[in-house]
This record gives sequence, C-alpha cells and structure tokens, in this order.
Amino acid sequence: MVAEQGSRKRGKSDTSKSLTTPPRFKRYKEQYPWLIIKNDKGFCTDCTDACERKLVINLHSREVQSKKAWVDDGFSNWKHGADRLKIHSTTCLHLNCVEALLNVAKTNVVQQISTAHFKQMMDNRTALLKIFSTLKALAIQGLPIRGDNNDERSNFMTFLQARAEDVVELKAWLQRDGHKWLHHRSQNEILELMATTVSMEIIEDIRNAEYCSILLDETSDVSRIEQVSVCLRIVSEDLTAKEHFISFFSTSDTKAKTLFDLVEEIFQKYNLPLSKVRGQCYDGASNVSGNISGLQTRILEKESRAFVDKEINSAMSTKASGFYDYMECFDCTFYLNILIEMFDRIEILNKDLQKMNLSVIESYEKVGAVTDVLNASRDSKFEEIWQKSVQAAEDLEIDEPRIPRQRKIPKRLDTGTTTNVQFKTAKAFSESRTSKFMIN
Ligand SMILES: [Zn+2]
Repeated sequence: MVAEQGSRKRGKSDTSKSLTTPPRFKRYKEQYPWLIIKNDKGFCTDCTDACERKLVINLHSREVQSKKAWVDDGFSNWKHGADRLKIHSTTCLHLNCVEALLNVAKTNVVQQISTAHFKQMMDNRTALLKIFSTLKALAIQGLPIRGDNNDERSNFMTFLQARAEDVVELKAWLQRDGHKWLHHRSQNEILELMATTVSMEIIEDIRNAEYCSILLDETSDVSRIEQVSVCLRIVSEDLTAKEHFISFFSTSDTKAKTLFDLVEEIFQKYNLPLSKVRGQCYDGASNVSGNISGLQTRILEKESRAFVDKEINSAMSTKASGFYDYMECFDCTFYLNILIEMFDRIEILNKDLQKMNLSVIESYEKVGAVTDVLNASRDSKFEEIWQKSVQAAEDLEIDEPRIPRQRKIPKRLDTGTTTNVQFKTAKAFSESRTSKFMIN
C-alpha cells in the first residue's frame, strides 16, 4: 500500500518509468515470487508454466482474461500493480495452476522413490534367492550347514561369500547392516519351509492315489528316544509302486495306543482318510510285537480292508535274525580279522597316494609293494589271524570253528574229474579257503 500511494503521488507518466526500478520490483518479487518482468511487462511464471504444459484446460471466461493478462500479453497496469498482483495471486487460474504444478512435482517424487524402492526390492529378492539356493544345495548334498556354534565360519557362509564374488546383489546384501536372514534360526526356518513344500508334493501324490499302505518301523536313537519312521506306499497310475518316506517321529513309548494315535495324527495332518489304507506293514521286532498286533487291530477297526502283510513282516524278521546269527558265528570273526589286517595296509597306502608330490611311477610302485605284502601275508599271517580269531571267539563266547557240512556232488553233475577233499580240521578248511584269495 505504501508503494501504491507513492506511485499515485508521482503521477501517471512517472509510473511507467518507475515500475522496473529495483526497490519496487524487489519488493513485489519478494511478496510474489512467481512474478517476472519482460519488456516492462509482468508475467506469472506459475501460470505460464502450467499453461505451456497444458496442466490446466477448460478455462472459464474470467480465467481466460487472467491468462491473457499474466501469460499471453503481460501485465502493464503498474498504477494498480500492488492490487492487481494481490488479486492475481488469489484468482482461480493462478490457484489451479499452482496446484497442478505441485501435483506434477509430487508425482515425480513418488515415482522416483518407488523406482528406487523397486530396484532395492529386486536386489534383495535376488540375494534372498541365492541364500535359499545355497541352503538347498547344502541340504541336497547332506553337508553340514553350520560349524561348531559358529555361524561365521560355517559351510553356509563360506559358500555365500564365494557366490557373492559373482553376484553383486548378494555382496551388497552381505555387507549391509541389519537383518540379513543368515542366523541359524532363519536357516532352520527356510529349511523347514522347503521340507514342507517337498512334503506337500509327496502328500499330493499320495492323495491322488486311490489306496495306500502304511509302513512303520521303530528304533531308538543314540539318546535312547524312540523314533518311529513312517512311510506310505502307493501305486501310481502307470502301475509303479512308490514308497514315500513321510518323516521320523519321536514317541514317548511304543505302545499300541501311542502308535495308533501317531498314525491317526499323521493322516489328519495331511488330510488323508484312513479309509484309503489297504495294507499295513511293520517290522516284526519281538519287543514290540504285542504292541504291533494291537496297532493292527485298531487300524482294522477303522478300516477293515487294511490288509496286514504278514509275509513281508516275517521275511524282514527272518532276514534280520539270519544276519544276527551270522554275526555270532566264528566265520564272521575270522573274516573280520582278515579284513582288519588288509585295511590296515590299504589305509597306509591310501594316505601315501594322496600326497601332492607323488609321481605316477612312485604310486604304481607303492600299490605293487602293498599288493605283494598282502599276497605274502595270505600264508605268513594265516596262523596269527587264526589264533587271534580263536581268542576273540573265546572272549565273545562264540561257538568254536567247525567244518561246514560237506555236500556230495549230485550224480548228474559229477563228471568224475572233481576230487571231493575231506578236511580234518576247521583250520585246514579255512586255510584252503583263504589260499584262494589273490589280490591283483
Ligand atoms: Zn499466476
């Protein structure tokens, strides 16, 4: 208002001269930053910018006039400059233009932020996928993931650091602060997720099959906790039999009810009906045989067609007991002692062959020497091994060595050329057997 009064006092001719004078323009510019002067005419930068970018369209008649004055022709009525500047700053045109420009700026910032955010997200995803694939590779190969209470020097970290040399996203991830999903709890969680995915695929396969059989085996682990392994056997559409291992389950005991509850829980967990069961197969270990028959009965109560495969049960049992019997005979002790003698020598050879500076000729010589020693010990070491085995048999209360029953050659196979040697002692028989060993 002070400027306005001053200009009135100076008169019309004075006004045009004074409009570009620095003090007045400076004051106007401070108050209205959008004002610029071109050839003594005032323009609004905001309205010009918005109109040039066609951010405001469909102008009303008043807005058209305003645009003409402040965008197209320029404002020149400086006599009423202060009033007109004030009025323009509140016109619809000016306010719309300012709002449109702000919206554009806002959109650009959001877009920039979201582009950067998206890139970061994709990089993180790449790094996380590498963590997953490394864990998967270690799990498939059955390699230990962690060291002894040390995450830093574990196989997992070593593999990741090696891969980070080729994958920049992973390198950046490993160097960042904060959550990296590398803690052993995260590893366990990831492995758990993978296991669930694999299980779900297996279960889907079982679900698609019309029938299934239960295969259940129990044993106690090193800490004497009962572990029950559960497999489900199915026949696929192309008539291929598949045995799917479900999992190990630890149970408090092996009573019929506990085992039945476990089976029922597994079927419920995977949404499989017990009516699908057409076979049951358990190892016939004598200590749980009573429990097993109880389990069979309970399952039969639920599904009467769940046929019990007694033949397989007994075959497994027979095989196991046959192996156990053999472990208790003198022959087994004797042959184990021979193997120990041989492996002692071979172990030394193995270590020698792994030496970095060994030439091919030297390695051939070493193998030849050990072969000669082993062949020679067939005669020289027999007595020593025999005595050692007899002593071991006594200590372990194993039956004394016996001559196996000599079988007569059937007449239809007897050509008369074979002489049927009769051995007087078990030692003579064993000596004749071992004399046939030849190592090349
Ligand atoms: Zn304007």
